[in-house]
Amino acid sequence: MKFSEIPYSRPDAEKTKAEIAELTEWLKRAESYAEARAIFLEKEEKCKYTNTMDLVAMIRRGMNKDDEFYREEDKFWWDFEPSIDEYEKAWAEAMLDSPFRRDFADEYGDMMFLNAEFDRRSMSEKIIADMQRENELIVEYGELMDSADEIPFEDGVVDPDEIDKLKEDVDGERRLAAYKAEGACRRELGERLDKVFDELVRLRDGMGKKLGFDGFTDLGYCRRKRTFTKADAERFRAAVVKYVVPVADAIKREQAKRIGRPYPLAYSDNDFFYRSGNAHPAGDDAYLVGEGQKLFDSLSPEAGAFFRHMTENEMMFLHAGGGNDIYLPYYEMPFLTVNLDGSGDSVRSFMHEAGHTFAYWMNRKRIPTAYITPSEDITELHSMCMEMIALQNAEGFFGADARKFTYTLIAESIAFITYGTMVDHFQHIVYAHPEMSAAERHAEWNRLEAIYEPWIRFDGEIPYYGEGMLWQQQWHIYESPFYYIDYVLTGVVALEVWAIMQRDPKEAWERYMALVRQGGSRPFTELITNAGLRSPFDEACLKNVCETAKIWLDGFDLTGIE
Ligand SMILES: [Zn+2]
Repeated sequence: MKFSEIPYSRPDAEKTKAEIAELTEWLKRAESYAEARAIFLEKEEKCKYTNTMDLVAMIRRGMNKDDEFYREEDKFWWDFEPSIDEYEKAWAEAMLDSPFRRDFADEYGDMMFLNAEFDRRSMSEKIIADMQRENELIVEYGELMDSADEIPFEDGVVDPDEIDKLKEDVDGERRLAAYKAEGACRRELGERLDKVFDELVRLRDGMGKKLGFDGFTDLGYCRRKRTFTKADAERFRAAVVKYVVPVADAIKREQAKRIGRPYPLAYSDNDFFYRSGNAHPAGDDAYLVGEGQKLFDSLSPEAGAFFRHMTENEMMFLHAGGGNDIYLPYYEMPFLTVNLDGSGDSVRSFMHEAGHTFAYWMNRKRIPTAYITPSEDITELHSMCMEMIALQNAEGFFGADARKFTYTLIAESIAFITYGTMVDHFQHIVYAHPEMSAAERHAEWNRLEAIYEPWIRFDGEIPYYGEGMLWQQQWHIYESPFYYIDYVLTGVVALEVWAIMQRDPKEAWERYMALVRQGGSRPFTELITNAGLRSPFDEACLKNVCETAKIWLDGFDLTGIE
């Protein structure tokens, strides 16, 4: 069915709630597994439909902002979603307490129960008021960050978009001036941002203790449904410092030479990769969709069929506000959005979303639906690995700029591992020492920068950025603690698939498919090892990736890329 032909109707909110409540009661009273199973499957079907209508309304609203009808529908869903929460919770509790839990786990896997256990352990009546306060502080943080919208620069005032452009200026001195101007503005907010964070840290530490944990870290892991431990994370950090930092440092030394700036780099030079600008795609929308089809056809018949299904059924919206991956469970159809704006990054995003939606497509027959669209730590594996696999058609997507795009993707992926690990390390220190003062936290961040990003001069030349306050702009630290490492871990697995691809593209594809076929049916590390890949927590994983990357980078011909 084409997307435009999908019929939409608003569900009856009260009837839907009553139906879930009724199914929950039936589940509690079920006398046999056969009976409980039938109720479970009915609940799945019911939610598939409701969920699909919600998403169809959201997509259509995004496709046409002036559409009055879907604007009204948006309001309905906005109210409906939180109101259904307590019914879903009651259902989850009934599943957890069901005498047939073992039978369910045997047939559908115990991942749904593991996840529900995490939810149960991280929530309690005792912390509801604290969680409300936590949300208020997160809102306050967002407002403070948005408030720096007038930045004095040269003889006038510029807005954040304009300063972002100036930060990419080809003139190094002008870039530095832009960073200094923005830093001075941010610095004025620094104290208030510290105050918000102080309260967040104390509040979270208290919530952890109320729930019987040592402090917040274990609660944070529980909220993120983590099956790896703090000790795993610690070993991973040590391996990043040992193997990744030296490779990233070599990339940055090369960059300093290329852009003609001194090493160690000023912070204002760190993101300036080429004087000639970034890579650009070789054609328009239709051309890029065609190249996408060529790529997927070359990978496997099912991959080719997936991509054709997406285009033939209008399951791609190429000029959205940004990239998104959606799955419409009732129709077993994925939908992707991207903003093809002529940049290299937008092509990367296109293939990223294609990776997400391909995994949804491959798992569309799965029960429960929750395994088709699992948590980010798992779904990002599918999308980030696809970014690497898509390099097989870099020539098609980028033509003359293919080498530039490929080099940038690998170089940035490696440098990102060190930054992302630092963000995670910082949070472990902060929540282990909730008594730290703001100044102590800044000093700690500065100390970590010297370890994870030794190629940057954080000497105080640029206000705010050079004074250990940069972490304040990383919103995850305020809004979603311990989330950030997910990007890093999935990025490492993506590089692992890339490393295999260097010696055997066919094997890389087979490993990727082994990962995709499992959907979200197991925890993160199990999915990876089941697919014949090394877990990022195995030191040999980073060691191998870095060895391959080092040889590849050393042999990469950068002639003509300036
Ligand atoms: Zn993604």
